[in-house]
Amino acid sequence: MSRRRRTWLAALLLALAGPTHAQVEDAITPPAPADLPAGESSEPPPTPAFEIFGVSVPPGQRRQLDWLVSESFVGTGLPIPIQVIHGNTPGRTLCLTAGIHGDELNGVEIVRRAAAAIPAGDLRGTVIAAPIVNLHGFQRNSRYMPDRRDLNRFFPGRPSGSSASRVAHSFFGDVIARCDALVDFHTGSFHRTNLPHVRADLQRPDVAELALAFGEEIVMHGAGAAGTLRRAASDAGIPAITYEVGEPMQLREEDIERGAERVETLLGRLGMLPEQEELLRMPEVYVRSRWVRVEDGGIMLAQVEVGDRVRTGDVLATVTNPISSHIRVLRSPHTGRVIGRAVNQVVIPGFAAFHIGLAVPPETPPEPTPPPGVDDPEEAVEEAPAPEAEERPE
Ligand SMILES: [Zn+2]
Repeated sequence: MSRRRRTWLAALLLALAGPTHAQVEDAITPPAPADLPAGESSEPPPTPAFEIFGVSVPPGQRRQLDWLVSESFVGTGLPIPIQVIHGNTPGRTLCLTAGIHGDELNGVEIVRRAAAAIPAGDLRGTVIAAPIVNLHGFQRNSRYMPDRRDLNRFFPGRPSGSSASRVAHSFFGDVIARCDALVDFHTGSFHRTNLPHVRADLQRPDVAELALAFGEEIVMHGAGAAGTLRRAASDAGIPAITYEVGEPMQLREEDIERGAERVETLLGRLGMLPEQEELLRMPEVYVRSRWVRVEDGGIMLAQVEVGDRVRTGDVLATVTNPISSHIRVLRSPHTGRVIGRAVNQVVIPGFAAFHIGLAVPPETPPEPTPPPGVDDPEEAVEEAPAPEAEERPE
């Protein structure tokens, strides 16, 4: 490949694939403390306690803490459970967040399971696990906040903004600002399922390193919509990725175990836990994707699964008119891989049914982030904006 053709992604992949595993680990591991001046004890200083929410977590301990975010409708504080695991040895702070969309359950159990498995005594650094950030929505099986807003469009938030914006501001300041790296867990939205994959802004080398260290087989490049936790954290200098797995309101054991294993892999590669013997493999990277929308209303039955590779013209689904029994087929306008799909259901024309990661050469430049109101290729948002959204100043 000539030097001129070596565009951003090709250069990045070559750079990340080039170093040995040890070099990658060096790049994402904080340097050891400098040598002490001669004459002083070579004993490392004791690890200080981790201070958060006015509570001290001693080294080698885990604590279940309450983040008091806001008042409920009856004026009492709503405590959001946060687990802090503080290692015996100083190191970086990794944050694991889930349930920002209150109906997305796989991540809640992945974060709980992964955090419970971390041996505090062996940990280097600190893990902050927030499995149910949007507890309001979680209690109601709802993606949204009580004000019908999507919390994941309001980060980093404002102290005097809307209810969602205040919660975002509080969480960002109290928790996220303490992180050196962040993994935020999600699923597909609105009766759609996602193939397990990482979303990351690969134009940021520290984010690309985090995505690679997580060890998932598929990575989708994107800066993330404005207001997402991932985008806001990355903008604040905290490398962040999201892990998408499965569908809302479902707990899939296979997906959960896979996610928990990925966290374990990440902790090893960040130097926070003894590393498992595992090869650092280059993921399959998608720099572009498209949603395929149905043209006909009716009963949609998918003919492909997430993970399937499709070519232009392949049948993705049939849509059957429930009265006339007339069957229409939905064909793929793209060649690529099915990253997400709607579960079988009754659809209306325009419903975003299949998310295709496009098979394009690695030289293909990334797409600019779409302006508000235009389809975000990463998101199949179907809901009408809440009336209040019109007036939101964010
Ligand atoms: Zn989500």
